[in-house]
Amino acid sequence: MIKRSFFALTRPRLGYDTPEPDPKEPKAIPVPSNLILLLHDPLDDARETLIKKGDKVEKGGKLRLYKDSKEYTVSPVAGAIKVIDTYSDDFGNTSTYLVINTDQGLTAGTGDMKYDLKDTIASADEYLRTLPGAPPLKTLADPDIKIDTIVITCADPDLLSTTQQYMALKFMDGIKEGIGVLKRITSVRKFCITIPENMNVKDEIDFAQVFRTSMIYPANLPPMILKEHLNMILPAGKTPEDMGICFMSAEAVVSLAQAYKTKTACHEKVLTVIGKQGTSYRVTASIGTPLRRILNAFSIHVNDHDRLVIGGPMKGFSTYTVHHPVQPDTDTVIVQDRDNIPELSDNPCVNCGKCVRVCPAHIPVNILVRYLEAGLYEDAMDKYDLLSCIECGLCAYVCTARIPIYQYIRLGKHELLKLNADA
Ligand code: SF4
Ligand code: SF4
Repeated sequence: MIKRSFFALTRPRLGYDTPEPDPKEPKAIPVPSNLILLLHDPLDDARETLIKKGDKVEKGGKLRLYKDSKEYTVSPVAGAIKVIDTYSDDFGNTSTYLVINTDQGLTAGTGDMKYDLKDTIASADEYLRTLPGAPPLKTLADPDIKIDTIVITCADPDLLSTTQQYMALKFMDGIKEGIGVLKRITSVRKFCITIPENMNVKDEIDFAQVFRTSMIYPANLPPMILKEHLNMILPAGKTPEDMGICFMSAEAVVSLAQAYKTKTACHEKVLTVIGKQGTSYRVTASIGTPLRRILNAFSIHVNDHDRLVIGGPMKGFSTYTVHHPVQPDTDTVIVQDRDNIPELSDNPCVNCGKCVRVCPAHIPVNILVRYLEAGLYEDAMDKYDLLSCIECGLCAYVCTARIPIYQYIRLGKHELLKLNADA
């Protein structure tokens, strides 16, 4: 258990957290009787699904909705499908959730399904997309995306999380092995690794180019890594992948190495959990575990109007339910007491200029926000550089009028994507 005040966030310079130098084993959360899996494929009432309520599932078995579905998930347990239903995210995008009723005896008594894994990226992508850390295998396997550099992130991108740093401290050999696998299955030849500048790594790292990253937020966000360490400026509206750079978490690389060694998928995700008093816990939980199970293990009670945040305090999102499941990329879960939640408001901008001064992308945020509030997204893009925003959330954090600028920005980008898709 690591004690840290959540309120240290009020420092003007926001420092990343560091794990204890010799971290203890995480607390293991037992596999629950019901797991919830999210599948990024919407249900179509007009079509018959491949999987149905009551179907038996194997531990490590792939689950797809339709024969031509490109998306799949993997069951971490043996059991039966209890529910298949529609799930909507905070922007109204629909996907599907499955509740798997665990057969505890069968899950404990049988090994994971063995995969016919070959040394090709297509084979890895066929079975391993949902490994802990969510390796970007779909991107690497896409013939239309040319990746020449992989950056492995041992520096956690958001505040309060120490999940990826923990993986680096404990599993550097696994990272080395995972890079070996990536060299075998992809044509990528340049590998870089981000390590926080104050982290003591025992062994010399000679298998990748090391980027020592600053302890001050937002140094570990991909656009900042590109700028500071690869001398590349991310053009507006582009992604690192558009520039041939793929980011991959330390946990994803370790999981990949493990999967190639055992020919099975592991399902245990490492998470940093922050309680209401700012106490930090490290846990492992099976992908699909409802958050309630993890919070109960530490006697953290979520009351009405408390806030449950998935991800870090700057870039995370709130969920309305304690049943939200652990996902392959869930690194951090934060519970904020209702009395400590900074209030947002619909007050008008007072033109204090703090957001402009803090913005690492030099965006005129004070004007941008007026266009976003009015729903003028195309003007926000054309005239006020909306697409140059790297989504660090600093403007919202410093805003005197407590305007939810970050949420406006994400909504604006989402609406523009929809407009483009319609066009
Ligand atoms: S989130 Fe705000 S501060 Fe950060 S890059 Fe975007 S506009 Fe600038
Ligand atoms: S920080 Fe908030 S109040 Fe100040 S200029 Fe920016 S949007 Fe306006």
